[in-house]
Amino acid sequence: MFFHLFKTFKINFLNRALITTFTCLGAIACNTATTPPTNSSPKIVTTFLPIHLFTKAVVGDTGQVDILISPGTEVHDYQATPDDAKLLAQADVLVENGLGMEEFLSALVANAGNSELQQIDSSEGIEAIEEEHEEHEEGEHGDDEHEHEEGKHGHHHEEGNPHVWLDPVLAQQQVANIRDRLIESDPSNADSYRSNAEAYIQQLQQLDSEFQQRLAPVKGCNFITFHDAFPYLAQRYGLQQEAIVEIPEDSITPQDIQRVQQAADQYGVKALFTEPGIEDKRIQQISSDLNLPLEVIDPLESGETDPQYYFQAMRGNLEALLRACQ
Ligand SMILES: [Zn+2]
Repeated sequence: MFFHLFKTFKINFLNRALITTFTCLGAIACNTATTPPTNSSPKIVTTFLPIHLFTKAVVGDTGQVDILISPGTEVHDYQATPDDAKLLAQADVLVENGLGMEEFLSALVANAGNSELQQIDSSEGIEAIEEEHEEHEEGEHGDDEHEHEEGKHGHHHEEGNPHVWLDPVLAQQQVANIRDRLIESDPSNADSYRSNAEAYIQQLQQLDSEFQQRLAPVKGCNFITFHDAFPYLAQRYGLQQEAIVEIPEDSITPQDIQRVQQAADQYGVKALFTEPGIEDKRIQQISSDLNLPLEVIDPLESGETDPQYYFQAMRGNLEALLRACQ
């Protein structure tokens, strides 16, 4: 098998440490050229942007953190590549969002054939909000792409809504989960993981206070987003989110537009949010039809790979929500 070729190249980090030790025993200048302990830090692979940001924040300079889905690639319906299997074959740790966000992962992990791989589910212990939208009913669409057989729902989320990273409080839990599991798989760097995580969690707490204080006057504000990414954020700060589609790949149907129209009539919706990189003219059309201002909100499924980018993007989201809701 193609993927098994990569297995040959896999050396887990414990083995690497052993090899370093034996090389060292055989070398004359061993004591003067002792390898620093950080060389045995694990090779970590993350799935997509926010998980990458949180993991990098915890790992800091201690080790290498790679990302499977490079920012700019659509996350929800991602198809894994042979390069991804190669990356996982050589990795020690894999960090995922969980809650069904990375449906491609179980097949990919099987293909990578890496029995030593430690998997970290960053949303462990977080209770998911159920998806609001029912599956499209059979016969509703003419094209095959949108027909779903029973028990085979394609790219739709079956474990509830996965967008927990957009709630600054649940994000803290994700960071803490990543910290705790990393310490388990690499105890030698525990102190570093602990202090890095603490600093980042403090920043998340600060962000949460800002959201709380500034959104308090607009509690109850209703807004419409392009895809269903903000129910956790809305729930946290007493707002109401309606989405046009469940995931960005869904095409906007007349039923979606009707539902959004009803929500706008019923709840006094304040604004419609599109997303960076979404160029669907129907969103502008809905905005002008419903006479709703069009704003941009960032689900952080794409963007910069510096851990601080999370705060920059989320503060941008806060300002956009305030503009919409005031
Ligand atoms: Zn999403």
